[in-house]
Amino acid sequence: MASKYDVAIIGAGAAGMMAAFTAGRRGRSVVVLDHAKAPGEKIRISGGGRCNFTNIHATPKNYISQNPHFAKSALARYTPSDFIAMVDRHKIAWHEKTLGQLFCDDSAKDIIRMLLEEMRAVHVDLKLSSETSGVEKGPDGFRLSTSEGPILATSLVVACGGKSIPKMGATGFAYRIAEQFGLPVTETRPALVPLTLDPNLLGELSELSGVAVEADVACGKTRFREALLFTHRGLSGPTILQISSYWREGDEILLTLEPDVDFLETLKAAKRENGRQQVQTVLSQHLPKRLAQYLADAAKLERPLADLPDKALAQLAERIRRWPIKPAGSEGYRTAEVTLGGVDTDALDSRSMQSKTVPGLYFIGECVDVTGWLGGYNFQWAWASGHAAGENL
Ligand code: FAD
Repeated sequence: MASKYDVAIIGAGAAGMMAAFTAGRRGRSVVVLDHAKAPGEKIRISGGGRCNFTNIHATPKNYISQNPHFAKSALARYTPSDFIAMVDRHKIAWHEKTLGQLFCDDSAKDIIRMLLEEMRAVHVDLKLSSETSGVEKGPDGFRLSTSEGPILATSLVVACGGKSIPKMGATGFAYRIAEQFGLPVTETRPALVPLTLDPNLLGELSELSGVAVEADVACGKTRFREALLFTHRGLSGPTILQISSYWREGDEILLTLEPDVDFLETLKAAKRENGRQQVQTVLSQHLPKRLAQYLADAAKLERPLADLPDKALAQLAERIRRWPIKPAGSEGYRTAEVTLGGVDTDALDSRSMQSKTVPGLYFIGECVDVTGWLGGYNFQWAWASGHAAGENL
């Protein structure tokens, strides 16, 4: 005998759990199925274990999608303040770290606990370690073949995330369901991901591995300013993760190191005041020592300032202000925080996340072609899209 529910949700992640208790509060019977042993695994590891659960400055401008208007409705109807109100109700202490990013004071597990409590309060059935092998639609709704046996549901919500971090159970299953029901899926690619360098450049920069510096990084017209980290494989740090969502193979990125410092003026002033100083000594007043040394070496300027023409100092300052680098690739889904692209928003109703062509079929969260910047925006999309579906189910 098949178990019957009003709503079946595949994926007990951020979006799936939010949709589950939102629909449950409205009296719907809900089952959530996840093949993982525990719910919300990505929440658990997010934000270095403290979960950057939202961003108080979130607006549709912080999201990438083929249709930049799509996210507006859901984001407007479930805001960061709405989520904060729930966090406060559960007495979870939080703080703003930087740039509007809110983190738990204690542990990301508090957020998972809160979502589980909300589901329990409205009797959502949570089935873990549960494989869904197939989905069919009949006249009365959806029939899911699962390791728990068949499940019948009037509505089906696909909330099983993207392809990022396969080790944590990401399968791309959502895209297969979309294709099965004839919904288009836009090109998917790893995003919020470190960029790699070709072996020659990597060799040249090898002594910088582990060095972090404030930098403005531009790719075409898009630019971000945060910390940049040189690694043994290439470039990382928030500013690189941000730009990776816009970078494409073959693109050059332009680094501006410590953008607030006028390096030409600094070098000229140092030359005037004490010409015996070495270039790297002056640079290291504003840059990490190893980076200052590398820049002086690379420019072949390891001499006292007094021996260097202003033209050479200008060239060095220009290199620090506009350092072009052509990444070779990215670290891929293995480490990408999110998947760019996904279920084409043209196929979904922006108020409810319901398919325009298959009544009762919903897609929410990361599997939809809406990708946030780094900094709590992706969870805000998961909450907002989950809420939009939950209110309509
Ligand atoms: P997920 O959270 O990925 O949930 C999908 C669920 O579906 C999972 O539980 C999975 O097990 C299940 N599933 C998958 N396939 C199947 C299947 N075939 N059958 C059954 N179940 C299936 N975003 C932020 O906003 N702030 C952060 O601090 C942050 N930190 C991050 C850190 C890391 C390391 C990573 C990888 C991501 C981070 N993100 C962060 C991004 C954020 O985790 C995602 O955007 C968010 O989890 C997406 O929610 P979701 O519910 O759509 O998908």
